[in-house]
Amino acid sequence: MQIYNYKEDILHIEEVALTKIALQYGTPVYCYSKKAFKDSYKTIENSLKKHIPEADILIAYAVKASSNIAIIKLLSDMGAGADIVSEGELFRTEKAGIQSKNIVFSGVGKTDIEIKKAIEKEICQINIESKEELANIAKIAQNLGKEAKIALRVNPDIDANTHDKIATGRKGDKFGIDIDEAIAIYKQANSMSGIKIVGVAIHIGSQIAKIEPFRRAFIKIADLVHRLKEEGIKLKNIDIGGGFGITYSSEKAIDFDELAIVIKELIAPLSCKIILEPGRFIAGNSGIVLTKLLYAKHTKHKNFLIIDAAMNDLARPSIYGAYHPILPVKKASDLQLKTYEIVGPVCETGDIFARNEQMPAPKHGDLFAIMVSGAYGASMASNYNSRPFLPEVMVDGKEHFLIRKRQSFFDMLAQEEF
Ligand SMILES: *Cc1c(COP(=O)(O)O)cnc(C)c1O
Repeated sequence: MQIYNYKEDILHIEEVALTKIALQYGTPVYCYSKKAFKDSYKTIENSLKKHIPEADILIAYAVKASSNIAIIKLLSDMGAGADIVSEGELFRTEKAGIQSKNIVFSGVGKTDIEIKKAIEKEICQINIESKEELANIAKIAQNLGKEAKIALRVNPDIDANTHDKIATGRKGDKFGIDIDEAIAIYKQANSMSGIKIVGVAIHIGSQIAKIEPFRRAFIKIADLVHRLKEEGIKLKNIDIGGGFGITYSSEKAIDFDELAIVIKELIAPLSCKIILEPGRFIAGNSGIVLTKLLYAKHTKHKNFLIIDAAMNDLARPSIYGAYHPILPVKKASDLQLKTYEIVGPVCETGDIFARNEQMPAPKHGDLFAIMVSGAYGASMASNYNSRPFLPEVMVDGKEHFLIRKRQSFFDMLAQEEF
């Protein structure tokens, strides 16, 4: 079954008409498909099982992609671990039932409290991004009288040819430890009390569709693992990060079978546990923003569609210039197309969702679905312009239910004082 499909000219998610969702929960609203989450998780799992059945694998969902606790719980129930980047995400993942041993902590700027919690909970590994962080972690672990399980996140100097703002594996990016310095830092870590070396990690960027950048990074990692072995440092885990690309418009999604074959060839022979950190690949196509047309505004220069969703609800178009397809919920019978710029109501010129969208003239109140909004959508939202956080609705077959209520105005002010 297609997740998103028109039945009698009305766009549905699974078996629920989006007109029904709008009526019940109001707009704008995030709407997810449970099946889509499950299918994308299984795509990864099945490819790995098929090509490297003997490997010990941890699929650590990158929680920042879409962090609603119901979503983390759904993935946890399927066997996922978590890749987290903050104490807040640690709190969420634990509440969702993910075991500490399946949690990986990433990020360039972990605070002392975050490090302390990670050590106390004995998570799978802390991915260290600098020698300064290594020294700090050793100190905190010594004070606790414990050992911190660490991996070095190395920067393999690979240009994954993705958007400049989501490339992370080039020499000049802030992430990771220069691969040429890694051996020296591993040796240093090996002699530090409070530090237990368990692995190596990479994450070369996001929205990567080609296998080639991964292949090049894996070759470098395999070489590093061999050289470490010669130095007497044996790793347990190899964390290959996330960044697996999906289809927004016409670009190809990554082929997980192909990726699994490269993992089999280059990573599996190292006989370590293999960790993946997919975010976008699992969540991206699992959600949409359902929005309503406020005004079709016609000027001498352009036709604007002003919708009730804005950049604070879905930031990707305004931050990255990202393209999201926008579909009418009711298929129009009028075949004459006009060109529109689709914008939100926020007081920023950059509050634009699409610049050259061709569609039949819509009317006030018509509904639209902003597609492929499940990843870096709700999790990146803000209250800018004092707009409350949107509700999140999960569809499961014929069923639909709230996994987050629309934020009330009282809640929005709850932390403020006067
Ligand atoms: C953001 C991030 C991910 C997830 O990236 P996707 O492109 O969503 O798969 C994985 N690992 C790390 C370290 C990250 O920062």
